[in-house]
Amino acid sequence: MPISPPVPRSEVERLRALHGLCLLDTPSDPTFDEMTLLASQVFGTSMALISLVDEGRQWFKSRVGLDVRETPRSHAFCAWALLNPEPLVVLDALQDERFVDNPLVTGAPYLRFYAGAPLITQDGLCLGTFCVLDPSTRDGFDAGQIKLLRQFARLAMMRVETLRSIGYTDPLTQLPNRTRFLEDVALWVADVPDDGRRLYAVAIDVCSPAYLQQMQSAFGADYADGFVRAAAQRVAQTIGPAPVYRIDSTVIACVLAAEHEAALEEKMGLLQQRLCAPSAHQGIPHAPAITLGAVSLAAPNAALADTSRALGAALAHARAAHRPWAIYHPQLDVAQQRAFRILAAIPGALGADDQLQLHYQPRVDLADGTCTGVEALLRWNHPELGAISPAEFIPLAEKTALIGDITAWVVRAALAQAQQWQDAGWRLTVSLNVSALDLATPGFADMLASLLAHSRLDPALIEIEFTESAVADDAFHVGMQLRRLRALGLQIAIDDFGIGYSNFSYLKQIPATTLKLDQSFVRSLPANMHDVTILCAMIRLGHEFGHRVVAEGIETAQAYELLASWGCDEGQGYWIARPMPAAQLAGWLNPDSTR
Ligand code: C2E
Ligand code: MG
Ligand code: MG
Repeated sequence: MPISPPVPRSEVERLRALHGLCLLDTPSDPTFDEMTLLASQVFGTSMALISLVDEGRQWFKSRVGLDVRETPRSHAFCAWALLNPEPLVVLDALQDERFVDNPLVTGAPYLRFYAGAPLITQDGLCLGTFCVLDPSTRDGFDAGQIKLLRQFARLAMMRVETLRSIGYTDPLTQLPNRTRFLEDVALWVADVPDDGRRLYAVAIDVCSPAYLQQMQSAFGADYADGFVRAAAQRVAQTIGPAPVYRIDSTVIACVLAAEHEAALEEKMGLLQQRLCAPSAHQGIPHAPAITLGAVSLAAPNAALADTSRALGAALAHARAAHRPWAIYHPQLDVAQQRAFRILAAIPGALGADDQLQLHYQPRVDLADGTCTGVEALLRWNHPELGAISPAEFIPLAEKTALIGDITAWVVRAALAQAQQWQDAGWRLTVSLNVSALDLATPGFADMLASLLAHSRLDPALIEIEFTESAVADDAFHVGMQLRRLRALGLQIAIDDFGIGYSNFSYLKQIPATTLKLDQSFVRSLPANMHDVTILCAMIRLGHEFGHRVVAEGIETAQAYELLASWGCDEGQGYWIARPMPAAQLAGWLNPDSTR
């Protein structure tokens, strides 16, 4: 019956120190490997190991002459060597009652000789050993050899301390940092498991950047730091004992092995579920959206700097697609690079006089067919990228302050055009699209007020369109701003109504004048009976709130007739007219005119 090694008195602190070093289950490190190779040559042994003694196992950070990466702790000579600061020397295991029945002695690799010097931290805790082993017995191991073995152990500990040093540690969480992550990834790439599984770098965003920012402004930076620290700990506990790294303010990374992508997705799904469970920090409950991104460490993604960028791209993609995770593929890069290029080109487009243009799409009264107004829609013709749809660049700009500059450009151009039409004696309402961020920016109503004050334009001829999501984001400020705009005499339209926000209570608080029914309901007419029911209900709802109801996306005569028969006030769509430059509008309004 093998004798199990006793547990040292400081076991709890010892394990905490060991786990805190984030060495377990990490890839081979060339520095440690040089040390063990040298030791086996110097001592003439077939095996040399750097063994870390974990709770139930010993795990080899470096090994020469041994195939396995770990053994049970109960078989570990090193677990005995831990108990004493002096090296443990066993010249013949068969003569030692502690080891005579040990499976590593009775079976492969048939150990006989063992000499192990403990790896001792600056706090005096023993993590494991630097040891040399051989299947042949020895006659002796002299003081000089013991001294040399101790030196090897000290050298190994110096490397451990370096890996733990400031440059490799994140000060907030005490986790290894991004530099260490990228260095370890490089080692992992060269040390792929031999069981056929693939390695993936995985980034876990513990909350969205916006969530963190809100937390900082509501509770202060210290609170937000504490939240990130606690979240990082939760990730470490969920993933451990493999190391986790903090690679960005809210992003914790690790390396996971999986047979294939589907298996990885399953793992990420489980992780996401566990980490998403609501938790409280200092008594305040949180249920942040956890997002994961992953990238395979197999070629061709293996380049170092790419790993970090690929993880960023995967996270960004998952967030944009409202998915819990995404795995990086080169196509994601193409999309991100285009997005980046578009964003970078916006300031130039705003400054150039030939890239941006407003097109105007007529809106007609469905009862008599007269044109009541036009919607201003932005067109961008980039010298190299060609025509870029607002559906592509507006959502990108909305994530940055650039949307404010775009809106300012649109407002100026549209007001100038409206003024020209008013001066020409046409009574056309010009509708402008603005984004949530504009409405949440306090100076927005001031800008409009000042532009209107400097013109002769009738404010009632300008309509501001916004989508329901703007209200969902910040109902209070948006409501205030809209009331100011309404007080200036402008019209207010809720755009794309019916698809965004199922809580209609905001309709009571928002001084809207117009409801624009989303085109997805209209385009399916008359085939989809459900859409018919919804459309009729929305028209009634709009009228009950006293709004004019406008149907968007009228593509057929049949849709036009149906909407008119249901009492919908106005319509807009390709069947009536496509958006067109201002110069063409005269011809459309009055085909006989030569204007
Ligand atoms: P939106 O405000 O809902 O504008 C209506 C969109 O539907 C326009 O697309 C228009 O060309 C298109 N459309 C009109 N009738 C039909 C139809 O019968 N069938 C179909 N399939 N489509 C129709 P566009 O111009 O590509 O604009 C897309 C979106 O981009 C707009 O949706 C609006 O949300 C945004 N956008 C456009 N211009 C601006 C702008 O100046 N500022 C802001 N913030 N957003 C803008
Ligand atoms: Mg619109
Ligand atoms: Mg719309």
